[in-house]
Amino acid sequence: MSVLVFADSSEGKFKKTAFEVVSYGKKVAEELGTNLVALTINGGDASELYAFGAEKVLEVKNDLSTFNAKAYASIINQAADAQSANVVVIDSSVDGLYVAPMVAVAMDAGYASNVVALPSSTAPFTVKRKAFSNKAFSNTIVSTEKKVIGIAKNSYGAHENAVSGTAEAFSANVPEMGVKSESVDKATGVITIADADIVVSAGRGLKGPENWGMVEELASVLGAATACSKPVSDLGWRPHSEHVGQTGKPVASNLYIAIGISGAIQHLAGINASKVKVVINTDPEAPFFKAADYGIVGDAFEFVPQLIEKLKAFKQA
Ligand SMILES: Cc1cc2nc3c(=O)[nH]c(=O)nc-3n(C[C@H](O)[C@H](O)[C@H](O)COP(=O)(O)OP(=O)(O)OC[C@H]3O[C@@H](n4cnc5c(N)ncnc54)[C@H](O)[C@@H]3O)c2cc1C
Repeated sequence: MSVLVFADSSEGKFKKTAFEVVSYGKKVAEELGTNLVALTINGGDASELYAFGAEKVLEVKNDLSTFNAKAYASIINQAADAQSANVVVIDSSVDGLYVAPMVAVAMDAGYASNVVALPSSTAPFTVKRKAFSNKAFSNTIVSTEKKVIGIAKNSYGAHENAVSGTAEAFSANVPEMGVKSESVDKATGVITIADADIVVSAGRGLKGPENWGMVEELASVLGAATACSKPVSDLGWRPHSEHVGQTGKPVASNLYIAIGISGAIQHLAGINASKVKVVINTDPEAPFFKAADYGIVGDAFEFVPQLIEKLKAFKQA
């Protein structure tokens, strides 16, 4: 018996969630008194995973240049089989939410997605999950012998726990995929909302697209991604890829700065998983202040340029 984690990567580099998944898997393995195995598919340097507790890393190298859910699910299942893994941990990213149920079906396992904490008990195996757009939690018992656990980004965190690991090649059959991406055109030089530690987001309070220069500048100084509220993208001020909320992208960043956004429930539904929320709004009654960790009652056109200057000075000091 072992715990298997899938350490996801992109273009040969581990995603941040890979370290979180390994950290989580390591703790679960310790609680179950077993060992942790990490699986990578065209991933990064295995030693990066040893640092978070992966004693054994199975490396799949093949010509899958882009993500394919069916292929990934099959490879994860083959690795789980080979390692006699009873627990498989996968992140609950968009890709992870696609792959994990397929793995669960192949393993005849119970699946809990969006898990936010270590199991409160391993017998019965009980996990806490996000529900209703982060407005509630459910405690879920996974009663099957085999389990697939999907952990929510930024919920457990990456914890260094160095072990002297070993890496070995794992050759897995890649099934007939049915669909194949011919090419992927990625925006370059832009931090995506999904990968960002910091997100600078703005709403209709900014009056028009011509005022987004200060938002982009603040994001650039902070190394952040830019985002917006729904009306802003509906109005064509910003691309739809930046729309955050219930009907847009979810954000689970460490810091979310909301400028001129009222904090409607549909917006908050998408950003609840962010750790620290800072709001800048002229209206002290704006609902966002109730959800914020820090609030600035003030005019964005006065405050944001000053914040940028202060941050630049701080970085140069
Ligand atoms: C089914 C449904 C789904 C929806 N899904 C989403 C979603 O996914 N995401 C989303 O964002 N919305 C969504 N909405 C819309 C949502 O209800 C709100 O209408 C929207 O979030 C409001 O956007 P806003 O805060 O940018 O604009 P507004 O509500 O117009 O708020 C602008 C804010 O800016 C402040 N302000 C004005 N001037 C300044 C200034 N100079 N400096 C600082 N602050 C200033 C104002 O005080 C105000 O609080 C959805 C609505 C429905 C019905």
